[in-house]
Amino acid sequence: MDKQDVVVIGAGVVGLAIARLLAMYGRDVLVVEKAASFGTETSSRNSEVIHSGIYYPAGSLKALSCVQGAAALYEYCQIKSVPFRRMGKLIIATEPAQEDRLRTYLAQGQKNGVEGLDIIGADELSVREPDVRGVAALWSPHTGILDSHRYMLSLINDLEKYAGQVVYRTEVVSGCSTHVGTELQTSDGYKFIANTVINAAGLSAGDVSLRLGVAAESTPIIRYARGRYYRYTGKSTFAHLVYPLATNASLGVHITMDMGGELRFGPDVEWIEQVDYSFEGNAIDSFTASIKNYFPALQEEYLCEGYTGIRPKVVAKGDEAGDFIVHNPEQTGCQGVYALYGIESPGLTASLALANFIANLVGK
Ligand SMILES: Cc1cc2nc3c(=O)[nH]c(=O)nc-3n(C[C@H](O)[C@H](O)[C@H](O)COP(=O)(O)OP(=O)(O)OC[C@H]3O[C@@H](n4cnc5c(N)ncnc54)[C@H](O)[C@@H]3O)c2cc1C
Repeated sequence: MDKQDVVVIGAGVVGLAIARLLAMYGRDVLVVEKAASFGTETSSRNSEVIHSGIYYPAGSLKALSCVQGAAALYEYCQIKSVPFRRMGKLIIATEPAQEDRLRTYLAQGQKNGVEGLDIIGADELSVREPDVRGVAALWSPHTGILDSHRYMLSLINDLEKYAGQVVYRTEVVSGCSTHVGTELQTSDGYKFIANTVINAAGLSAGDVSLRLGVAAESTPIIRYARGRYYRYTGKSTFAHLVYPLATNASLGVHITMDMGGELRFGPDVEWIEQVDYSFEGNAIDSFTASIKNYFPALQEEYLCEGYTGIRPKVVAKGDEAGDFIVHNPEQTGCQGVYALYGIESPGLTASLALANFIANLVGK
């Protein structure tokens, strides 16, 4: 049977970042992807924001990997000419009762090591964003955006430079631990042995672990929270990303823009049973109501359906937000098998740091 050193399951941004780093460390890496191209799931259905690391509990994997990942990502984009803009973000309190939340974010962000955070008043806010209404805002200068597609392409270029490769249209359907490694079978019937397997299958990570023989008790249940985005073709003067206060399940329907300057609003939260990207229902009224809280001049006739993305959640609806989960072979119970679960936001930002984290576990 053919033998492979490292197999990464999933060519999303996290799988690719891990594969690239392990290849750079001299491991022989194969990425197996079920879709016809890279990043077709969560990695291309997000806000493309480089988060600074404000929201997450100190010491959590989200906080650590976001802060380290953002710094690494800006540097990477600069060196590799991946388009990005560090334009900063404002989190808006629309009424005095919300100002305490800004102070909580400020303290949390500072604890997490986020630099440059500051609370500004209504006057300063109206200078920075004349169309935004609020009584105060938290200013985060190190939040930005990037071209996530170009980023993933660049990761693949690096991977290939270090002799790694990605195979598409190939789904890992089963696997089992043997004394010589993990035997994997793909959808085309091909069987091979891998020394190290990294399950970076995003929304399918729980399912993939079960297929690899990881016990159900050791496999987190992955739940799905879909978010819709509306594009906005109306006039806007936004120079920064603008966010309302966050909820447990999301950062709130915010204003973001892509590298081409197109404005979009989203995502909302809808818990669903199956992975389904359809844009269901008309959310214009609820979007308009929440956006007008901080952007009263919104012209709803310029909102048009955009796309959806699905958050892989390791907690149930109504629970406190969960952390990223990384299991080593002791935790998966399968020799050589590592797994990542619940890599929702800020997974794009955190990707290079998560890769580092995994590389340290796996060994160079
Ligand atoms: C609405 C939304 C907004 C977000 N906004 C941001 C943001 O602004 N900033 C930020 O930092 N993060 C954001 N995120 C989070 C970020 O997008 C994700 O953390 C990141 O894309 C996860 O990447 P991944 O590689 O883990 O998963 P994915 O991109 O889902 O990749 C997993 C891959 O595994 C493949 N796969 C699955 N099963 C198999 C199998 N059996 N065999 C082979 N291949 C398989 C899939 O086809 C897929 O390509 C957002 C997420 C959502 C949902």
